[in-house]
Amino acid sequence: MKIAKDCVVSINYTLTGDDGNVMDSSDGQDPLTFLQGHGNLIPGLEKALEGKTTGEELKVSINPEDGYGPYRDELVQDIPKSNFDPGQPLAVGDQFQVETEVGPLVVQVTKIEGENVSIDGNHPMAGKTLNFDVKIEEVRAATEEELSHGHAHGPGGHNH
Ligand code: ZN
Repeated sequence: MKIAKDCVVSINYTLTGDDGNVMDSSDGQDPLTFLQGHGNLIPGLEKALEGKTTGEELKVSINPEDGYGPYRDELVQDIPKSNFDPGQPLAVGDQFQVETEVGPLVVQVTKIEGENVSIDGNHPMAGKTLNFDVKIEEVRAATEEELSHGHAHGPGGHNH
């Protein structure tokens, strides 16, 4: 069957940045399994897969606008170290969740300089062009349960 809204699709993929570095891959894992048309994937990838079928391979280049969005400078902030719990060790690369006006946001510590801590709330792939090599392994109709949950079940999907 062809990929359309409410299909469960399994893909193997490699994601490469414009610098040629592999950023993510399904290599060595179950294929990524998702419910098409429910925002499980970035919009650009769903769009590219629409109408394709099992066994097809494709190369897709996705702009930030159709990926994880543009990089937003306003999500980068400097915070005094005194705002953090002194009992907690703090290191570059640490991630934590903060409450913002628009809801919870995961931020990462990007720099610690003296009493100043820089945090970045951008998605690690924000502002990046994403180059996907995709092979479609399986396309099937979703079950009632998957449709009501809004995601795929089984290996490579949700297990719960
Ligand atoms: Zn579920």
